[in-house]
Amino acid sequence: MIKELHEKLANKEISAVELAEQYFASIEEKDKEIFAYLTLTKELALKQASLVDAKIARGEKIGMLEGIPGGIKDLILVEGVRATGGSKILDNYIAPYDATVIERLKDAGAVILGKTNCDEFAMGSSTENSAYGPTKNPLDLERVPGGTSGGSSAAMAADMAAWTLGTDTGGSTRQPAAFCGVVGLKPTYGRVSRYGVMPAASSLEQVGVITKTVEDAAIVLSVIAGEDKMDSTTAKSPTKDYTRYLTGEVKGLRIGIIKEYLDGLNGDVKKSIQQVIKKYEELGAEIKEIALPYAKYSLPAYYIINFSEISSNLAKYDGIKYGMRATDHKDSILDFEPENRNLIETYLDSRRFGLGAEVKRRIILGTYALSSGYYEAYYLRAQKVRTLIKKDFEKVFEEVDFILTPTTPAPAFKIGEKTNNPLEMYLEDIFTVTANVVGVPAISVPGPEVEVDGKMLPQGFQLMGKWFDEENLLRAGYAYEISK
Ligand code: GLN
Repeated sequence: MIKELHEKLANKEISAVELAEQYFASIEEKDKEIFAYLTLTKELALKQASLVDAKIARGEKIGMLEGIPGGIKDLILVEGVRATGGSKILDNYIAPYDATVIERLKDAGAVILGKTNCDEFAMGSSTENSAYGPTKNPLDLERVPGGTSGGSSAAMAADMAAWTLGTDTGGSTRQPAAFCGVVGLKPTYGRVSRYGVMPAASSLEQVGVITKTVEDAAIVLSVIAGEDKMDSTTAKSPTKDYTRYLTGEVKGLRIGIIKEYLDGLNGDVKKSIQQVIKKYEELGAEIKEIALPYAKYSLPAYYIINFSEISSNLAKYDGIKYGMRATDHKDSILDFEPENRNLIETYLDSRRFGLGAEVKRRIILGTYALSSGYYEAYYLRAQKVRTLIKKDFEKVFEEVDFILTPTTPAPAFKIGEKTNNPLEMYLEDIFTVTANVVGVPAISVPGPEVEVDGKMLPQGFQLMGKWFDEENLLRAGYAYEISK
C-alpha cells in the first residue's frame, strides 16, 4: 500500500500535498465517530508535504516513505505538538523536542498527520482508559479497537493514515492490530530507540508499527530502527532494509506451535488458527509441536514487573515538572487557600485529579511490590521467573525459527464489556506479554475472520521470532499475507 502511494507520488499522479489533504478529508469525515486522533498537525503535515513536492518538481528521486502520511501514538513526542499520552495530567503539555523515531521519520520525509488516542500512559487493552474518551473500532462501532495503541489501529482500519506508530509494553501494537484487521509489529527489545517516548514499564517496551500490510511494517521499521546515542538500551546489532527479505518463501522455516494454547481456544478461533497452520504447511514451512513450560507464568510475571516499573516511572508526573498543576482544584479535599498550600499538597491534588483509575491502581500495586520486605517476594521473584521463561525460549529456538499463537483469545470485545473487571482486561494479553517478558520480536497478522454474534470480525495470529531476527519474522508474515 505504501509502495502504491509512493509510485503515485513519483509518477506525479498525485502531489504530496493532495495526498495529505485526502487523509485529512477522510479524518474529517469519519473521526467524529471513531475518535482515533487526539490532535491533528495539519500545518506541519502540509509544510512537510510541500517540501516533498518541491523535491519531485526538481526532478529528484524520493524515498519510499517520503510524502507518505502517518499517525503517531500520543506517547511519542513530536516537537511543538501537544503530547498527552492519553492523560489529563499532560493535557497542556507541548513536546519540547522530537523523539528519535520522529527525527528519523522526518529525515525520511514522512508526513505526520497527528497524534493518536491511547490508553492513559499505555495501560489497558481497549483504549477505554484514555482520559479523552474511547476510540471505536471502525469495523464495528460498538466494539473496542484494542489497546493501548487503539487510535493508531483504528486510523489504519478506517484509512485515516497510511502507516502509524504505536508502542508495545505487553501487546499494545499487536492486540489492537488484531482487533482492527491490520498488521502490528513489536521489534526486539533494543531494536528501536525510545528516546522521547513516555515510558510505562521500561524493561518491557518498544516502539512498534501498525500498518495495513507486512510490507508496510518492513518499510517503516527500516526507517525507525537502529542504535541511538540518546538511548543506551538500543543495540548495536546492524539494521537492514527489511523489505529485501520479503521473498514470499518460507520453505524450510520451522514454526513451533503449543498444543495447550490451541486446546484452550474457543471453536471458531481455534479453526482460524488451524487454517493458518495449514497454510504455512502448504507453503512449505515445517510445523513442530513445542513446549514452553514456564510461559504460563508470563502474565503474572509481566504484571508484577509492569506495575513496579510504572510506579517508579510515573513519579515524575507530580504537577511541578510537567503538565497540569492542581493548586486550586474545585473538588480538592485539602482545604487550604492556594497561597498557603505546600508542595506535598500540590503533588497530591495534581496526581489525584490528573491521573486516572487504572494508572493509580498500578502505581499503588507497584509501590507495594517494590517496598521493603515485599520486593524479594514480588519484583525480584518475577524477574527470576522471567529468566526461566527466557531460557525456555532459548531452548525452543534451537528447534524452531518461530512460535505461532493466536494474538488474542477472541476477536474485539464490546465497549464497556470489561471496564469493571481489571483482571479480565489483563487476561486479554495472555498471548502477547510473553514476547515483552523475554524481549523477542513479534508480529500480528490478520488470519481468517471469526463469526461473533452473527458478524464476521478480524482474528489475528502472532508469530514470535528470535532476538534481532526481524527479517525472517517479516518474511514469514509476508508469505502468509500474499498467499491469501
Ligand atoms: N494491555 C497491557 C497492559 O495493560 C499492555 C499494554 C501495552 O502494551 N502498553 O499493560
